[in-house]
Amino acid sequence: MAKVLIFVEQRDGKNKKSSFELIGASSAAGNETHAVIIGDAVSSLAAECAQYGANKVYVVQDAILKNYTGESYARALVAAIKTISPEIILGSHTPMGKDLFPLVAAQIDGALATDCTSLQFAGGKLQLKRPVYSGKAIVEVEFCGSGIQMATVRPNAIGLGKPDTSKAADATSITADFSGLKTKILEVVKGNSARPDVTEAGIVVSGGRSLKTAENFKILEDLADTLGAAVGASRAAVDAGYRPHRDQVGQTGKVVSPSLYIACGISGAIQHLAGMRTSKVIVAINTDPQAPIFQIADYAIIGDLFQVVPALTNEVKHLKE
Ligand SMILES: Cc1cc2nc3c(=O)[nH]c(=O)nc-3n(C[C@H](O)[C@H](O)[C@H](O)COP(=O)(O)OP(=O)(O)OC[C@H]3O[C@@H](n4cnc5c(N)ncnc54)[C@H](O)[C@@H]3O)c2cc1C
Repeated sequence: MAKVLIFVEQRDGKNKKSSFELIGASSAAGNETHAVIIGDAVSSLAAECAQYGANKVYVVQDAILKNYTGESYARALVAAIKTISPEIILGSHTPMGKDLFPLVAAQIDGALATDCTSLQFAGGKLQLKRPVYSGKAIVEVEFCGSGIQMATVRPNAIGLGKPDTSKAADATSITADFSGLKTKILEVVKGNSARPDVTEAGIVVSGGRSLKTAENFKILEDLADTLGAAVGASRAAVDAGYRPHRDQVGQTGKVVSPSLYIACGISGAIQHLAGMRTSKVIVAINTDPQAPIFQIADYAIIGDLFQVVPALTNEVKHLKE
């Protein structure tokens, strides 16, 4: 059993479910599981953390924490670490986690493994797996010595347990010193998509160069909306201007691990696979039976996406009725 601190990521007053995966995994392993939420007026988010298994929930609240900066959040998390003295610190491998954890690891002299796809606790030690060489190999990681162990874990890699909604939590406040910060957010320009982000979604419908125009992505959006999915894209589709870069999946885009990944007219270049090969179930639709994507697909549909995708959308709609 170890003393574990989970950094619970919230945006706009909503907790990210990937943080609950970590709370659930730590709690299920019998660890003393602490959660910390950082932001402005976030104490109402504490109960959810308890429902997923946190023994104790802390908040670091300040108006300056309304929008994320690495500098201010690192100060807040380091203050929490000093108060709680955990042996293990976990966070999600999201844009925020990727930025924050190395900063904090440097400040507390912690050991850090990033982008992990599996974690276990053995006698107070973390045992992790993480992909390397664009996912061509998986390394097993354990930390030497007795310092603080830190890891970021890919969202959806562990899976979400069921919350116990009868549980409540009082958030304990931790204060941090934010004097002399060198960075400040002047403006936040938000994307206008109402769909979930590809890294968060349980289902991702992705399209490639073969879509031919930005307008043709409408057929993928229809399928995505029917399934409650996010829309992703290959780099070729993004470079051609069919989708914004935030939707790009792959080595130079986002890494996703959804329950279901539907690749429509995507060849399966190694750089694309690097971003989606840990998806639980992969469906590939492609006219070319030799397309490399079929080597990792669980289900292969050899056909024209312009016929297959609308047919799939109709079928899902019928099943839902
Ligand atoms: C350093 C570097 C980083 C990169 N990073 C990324 C990255 O992050 N993400 C990424 O995706 N790529 C990345 N790439 C690019 C990658 O190598 C490929 O060029 C790209 O993934 C190809 O995109 P695509 O599959 O959409 O296009 P293509 O390779 O052109 O494949 C199109 C596929 O659609 C099929 N097709 C055509 N018409 C139809 C139809 N009507 N119905 C069904 N199937 C059809 C074809 O058979 C083909 O398999 C990177 C490359 C480099 C060098």
